[in-house]
Amino acid sequence: MNLNATTDRATFVTHLECSLTGERYAADELHGLSRVGRPLLVRYDLAMVRATTPRALIEARPTDLWRWRELLPVRRTADVVSLGEIETPLVPIPKSGGANVLVKDEGRLPTGSFKARGLVMAVAMAKALGVRKIAMPTNGNAGAALAAYASRCGIETIVLCPDDTPEINVREIALQGARVYRVNGLIDDCGAIVAKGAAAGHWFDFSTLKEPYRIEGKKTMGLELAAQCRWVLPAAIFYPTGGGTGLIGMWKAFAELEALGWIGAARPKMFAVQASGCAPIVKAFDDGVEHAERWEGAHTIASGIRVPKAVGDFLILRAVRESGGIAMAVEDAAIEQAVQHCARDDGLLLCPEGGATLAAYHAARARGLVSADDQCVLFNCATGLKYPMTDASKTLDRHAEIDLAAL
Ligand SMILES: *Cc1c(COP(=O)(O)O)cnc(C)c1O
Repeated sequence: MNLNATTDRATFVTHLECSLTGERYAADELHGLSRVGRPLLVRYDLAMVRATTPRALIEARPTDLWRWRELLPVRRTADVVSLGEIETPLVPIPKSGGANVLVKDEGRLPTGSFKARGLVMAVAMAKALGVRKIAMPTNGNAGAALAAYASRCGIETIVLCPDDTPEINVREIALQGARVYRVNGLIDDCGAIVAKGAAAGHWFDFSTLKEPYRIEGKKTMGLELAAQCRWVLPAAIFYPTGGGTGLIGMWKAFAELEALGWIGAARPKMFAVQASGCAPIVKAFDDGVEHAERWEGAHTIASGIRVPKAVGDFLILRAVRESGGIAMAVEDAAIEQAVQHCARDDGLLLCPEGGATLAAYHAARARGLVSADDQCVLFNCATGLKYPMTDASKTLDRHAEIDLAAL
């Protein structure tokens, strides 16, 4: 970690801003959504960052998440909480993807998913702003990251998840110190309970995009990717989209990097990938509208993207459209096939959401939206080890005659 390079000082944060109306909000105060119920975005004095922080200074630091501190909201080193947020590798998958396909493997992060990026930032800010108790609805990975970081700095957590959340998530959340409840509903049903308790003053609401700092943490994916690609962004990004925090965050990162003069105007095509059993963003994209309707009867094995309603829908759609990409849905069968293909032939175990991006990549190739020559980055946002796997083993009786040649 690289905390000594920057001494305690005011960060470059100037204010927060409503993502819909542009209304300004003061930094250093606790905020949820804006007055019109939309996410708040953190704004920085980028001219000052540009004047004081050469790109080479960042490049000379260790490659962890905190190297980006000038573009992050945490003011005091004492408020930083960390479990070792490493830079995640870009892993080629030449057989299951192609010669120019890289997987950004976020499964290497603390708690096994990229939710660590968002939650490390949100928890650090909650700590800085004096929050003592947090509640969150989750499909699993966000709850695990929240529990880990909050426990580490003594903040109490209550986590609500759909009752069919992968078993391992529910258990790790509890082990990491949260009180976890299974709810007979979907993530937005859990969110309604959290909102009710927050309104009654029981806790602070940490739902996706309902506090301003998770986007800032997820933004580091875009910053990191730019540095890894030597400041020339790839042709396309395939992102498994639930609440869309990462896609929105990366889009924001690219704008900030351009304002700093660290990258040019070229942007990747952003592909928002959803499962066909829960594709509200795809429907809104195809319908040409700005906001998505709730998706009824949502179902998919890719639990991380089973989000029927996203509060940042218009931000996702705006980024996808501006980039020249599209929102696309893939079937669960294609997801399973992609996971198997990548594991068997390239040795990389994707999570189902990561499998969805690989399936979407092939669909995009077939439709001519990207070519074999385009460098494409697929986001695998959690380790495949956190998900149920089919048992393909056979048994062997060590007391019987074993036909070794036939094994
Ligand atoms: C949360 C999650 C997603 C979706 O991320 P958003 O930024 O909220 O859209 C994708 N994959 C996995 C594994 C996740 O845990």
